[in-house]
Amino acid sequence: MIHTEKVQALLAAIDAKRYGKTRNYISGSVSELGPYVSRGVLTTRQIWTYLLSRGHSFEEVFGFVQQLAWRDFFQRVWMGLGDGINADIRGDQQGVKHTAVPAAIAAGTAGIEGIDVGIQRLLTTGYLHNHQRMYTAFLTCNLAGAHWKLPAHWMYAHLLDGDWGSNALSWQWVAGTFSNKKYITNQENINRYTHTHQRGTYLDVEYEQLAGAPVPGVLEPTVEADAVLPFSDCDAAAWHKAIEKQGLRLWDPQSAVIENRVVLHNYYQLSPSFASEMPGTRILLLEPSVFAQYPIADHCVDFVVSLAAEIPDLQVFVGEFGALQTALRSFGEVEIVYQEHPLNRHYKGTEIPRDWLAPEVEGTFSSFFSYWKKVEKSLRKEYKEIRGY
Ligand SMILES: Cc1cc2nc3c(=O)[nH]c(=O)nc-3n(C[C@H](O)[C@H](O)[C@H](O)COP(=O)(O)OP(=O)(O)OC[C@H]3O[C@@H](n4cnc5c(N)ncnc54)[C@H](O)[C@@H]3O)c2cc1C
Repeated sequence: MIHTEKVQALLAAIDAKRYGKTRNYISGSVSELGPYVSRGVLTTRQIWTYLLSRGHSFEEVFGFVQQLAWRDFFQRVWMGLGDGINADIRGDQQGVKHTAVPAAIAAGTAGIEGIDVGIQRLLTTGYLHNHQRMYTAFLTCNLAGAHWKLPAHWMYAHLLDGDWGSNALSWQWVAGTFSNKKYITNQENINRYTHTHQRGTYLDVEYEQLAGAPVPGVLEPTVEADAVLPFSDCDAAAWHKAIEKQGLRLWDPQSAVIENRVVLHNYYQLSPSFASEMPGTRILLLEPSVFAQYPIADHCVDFVVSLAAEIPDLQVFVGEFGALQTALRSFGEVEIVYQEHPLNRHYKGTEIPRDWLAPEVEGTFSSFFSYWKKVEKSLRKEYKEIRGY
């Protein structure tokens, strides 16, 4: 139970007080819980409840909880707009020169140490600090003139915490299609938050000089989708190797044992305790269409399969939901239980809602702060009730 123990250790290590002051620095007290949150192992509400149990004051956890709310906000927007988040939301991205990825970004050789080091870590480990994500998106979209979509897919593919809602909407936020203006930064700012001391680079100028600046030579060569997303689909070698290594059972129609209820797991829901009050056969559904649209790198495949290995008696079904339905017909009347998610809209069966930070704050909101205002009010109320005043 490596992951179960790791989650407990990461929760225990949250330094909520220091978080607010240091989270923008790459050495800051960030939790690194992202991969577990994005893969559905841990919910934002469970983290909030855990923090409450440690006896913190509301003010002490304020900064951390507000970031958790960003996650829920992006999920609500994704629920509301569906595939609409795949296109520019508030008008076309301005200054687009191409729809590819600057080759130097994809390789982590853009010449800005604080960004390059982060990208190289991303490519090998699947982690990138939030500020380095913003810097990378800024260089890519607002300096090199790339449209945000393919670069977002590239970053998502490598992130262990890849979540298309947070990812696409953050890229759109930086590129100015889901915000009021494009995000801009310069060398001085990057040096401060990444603890580098570079001078004389193409970013070592005042902010005003960067808006509308020509594309730096190093960012001019570009690479297309086949070079930045060369990953196998979920029926191919990387998956089979990982599944075999973890000793997971692939669905076999001859030997499959199915109870009258199936609980579905997928890339976004890998919690061993999901629907635990509903006994049934547990199936990990890997739909080729999902991974064709949102490809992932091999280290993400390994991570996800190792998480799945902690779900008892799991069977792995590689195929579309419709094919699973057909396969289940030979077992008589089978209830399918799954979690609500924008990528699960074609599932049929019993839908379980997600475990939101503030479940009653529903709907779509025009901005994060209009959403946060309501979430904060609800959490403060809950906090007071629990503390008894
Ligand atoms: C261009 C870009 C792409 C991004 N892509 C993703 C993505 O694919 N998946 C993803 O989960 N997040 C994404 N983020 C948001 C954020 O960078 C990560 O959630 C965060 O860095 C994860 O690290 P952590 O677990 O240490 O977070 P912490 O800072 O410790 O925060 C705790 C949790 O709060 C949530 N959270 C924190 N900051 C944010 C934020 N700004 N937006 C949304 N949720 C947040 C995450 O679930 C995180 O695990 C992206 C941000 C940018 C700018």
